[in-house]
Amino acid sequence: MKLLIMGPPGAGKGTQADKIVAKFNIVHISTGDMFRQAIKSGTALGKEAKEYLDQGLLVPDEVTNGIVRERLVKSDCENGFLLDGYPRTVAQAVSLDEMLFDLNMHIDAVLNIVVSHSLLLDRLTGRRICKECGTTYHKTFNPTKEFDVCDRCGGKLYQRKDDNIETVESRLRVYNNQTKPLLDYYKAKGNLFNINGEQDIDKVFAEIKTTLGGLK
Ligand SMILES: [Zn+2]
Repeated sequence: MKLLIMGPPGAGKGTQADKIVAKFNIVHISTGDMFRQAIKSGTALGKEAKEYLDQGLLVPDEVTNGIVRERLVKSDCENGFLLDGYPRTVAQAVSLDEMLFDLNMHIDAVLNIVVSHSLLLDRLTGRRICKECGTTYHKTFNPTKEFDVCDRCGGKLYQRKDDNIETVESRLRVYNNQTKPLLDYYKAKGNLFNINGEQDIDKVFAEIKTTLGGLK
């Protein structure tokens, strides 16, 4: 099974990705991990990517695409993979299609986790973290027994700076602008599946399993 997962910050994409790779015994390929690996193993493309990242610059598409390709040709991908965080643009999606065609592979499904804007705002701005031990809570969905006091260590909770409403709104706006054309691209290809991300974690995963089970 060769899959792609998409979803805005706060949609629970990471949790579902972990469940999918465990259930279907496929490799999880996230862009961050891929860059770290390429840099660590010192491939030519890894070195190139590092130069951009060290300067705080965006890694150009040709480098990113090359690193993805280096990863996809490894033998552990034969049984299947879940791409996470790539492609980010239609140009990258086109390159991915060319790569897969060369490798005689294709994407079985693009899973898009859908959550309404207002629920994403609730989820992302309600996060609270313990100053002492780093445990994460949510003021509505996973509250502490005592207000703003960590259940585990009694430490005080705080809100991360980038969890405030302005920053969250802007992150969501950037995500939507970037992703809309990509979703249209996969919709036109007919392998886009919208998953209702507003349900319990287990129900979201059940919907994903049903969706994948229905593939030919
Ligand atoms: Zn704590």
